Amino acid sequence: MSLSERETALSVKSAPGNAQATALSPPGKRTEERRTEEKVRALLWRYNSEIIFGGSLEIKFTRNSSSLVSLSQHQGSGTLRLHELFCKAPTELLKDVIRLCFSNIDRAHARMLRSRIHDYIGANRHLAVATMSAPVYRRPQGSIYDLEEILKQVVREHVPERRLKNSRPAIGWSRQVTSKLMGKWIETPPMEKNVILINKLLDDARVPSYYLEFNVYHEILHDLFSISRARGRWIQHSVEFQKREKSFPHYARALEWEATELQKLVAFEHAAS
Ligand SMILES: [Zn+2]
Repeated sequence: MSLSERETALSVKSAPGNAQATALSPPGKRTEERRTEEKVRALLWRYNSEIIFGGSLEIKFTRNSSSLVSLSQHQGSGTLRLHELFCKAPTELLKDVIRLCFSNIDRAHARMLRSRIHDYIGANRHLAVATMSAPVYRRPQGSIYDLEEILKQVVREHVPERRLKNSRPAIGWSRQVTSKLMGKWIETPPMEKNVILINKLLDDARVPSYYLEFNVYHEILHDLFSISRARGRWIQHSVEFQKREKSFPHYARALEWEATELQKLVAFEHAAS
């Protein structure tokens, strides 16, 4: 859905005051993390002359998949949060990270560094995925709709590539009703099933089955067309993805319903809660 995205694990932020990262590292850092920290500190020291950051710095390793690099600063001291995945990064890439976070560089240079970091992340995405915790969701049998049945039907009619039961993602309702995200595709570590989450809001008799089918269809397309990177940007809905999406028989109808009726349902839920 236009409203539904798996925000992949790839944003590289350097935002003051960004404290979203979840530090999962136990109090005693693992050897790998300690080594990476030493490397980062050595690099910081080496580039000291061009580094604009003066105070004390804490380095934390996280599994936060939405912000892989972040630097928060407060009154001269700061916290650099790095995804665990950077423990495996070559020194050259750590240099890029440090330059991006600490040096006074122009936009073009920052863009180039960000792009190199993204390329590394893209190539090692499986490592980030492998450390993510399993998504939590409700069973597919809702009070009105059974997502398992819908998935089966959608696969049977439109996605022959996922005909085999064990090639299909798992599916379930979201635990919470949200007003924006109607569906989400979540990549899981190898050997585990990817997961499609559908907004609990749609388990409602006022929602036509074709709209639900369309959402499930959209998410399963993410399972077929993986995210790619081109000209410095991540592409989630490639040309092929969109072409395939438009081939859904109720495509126009589903979008029309979304544009008119979905908003009413959201407003109604909002008023009720
Ligand atoms: Zn999508």
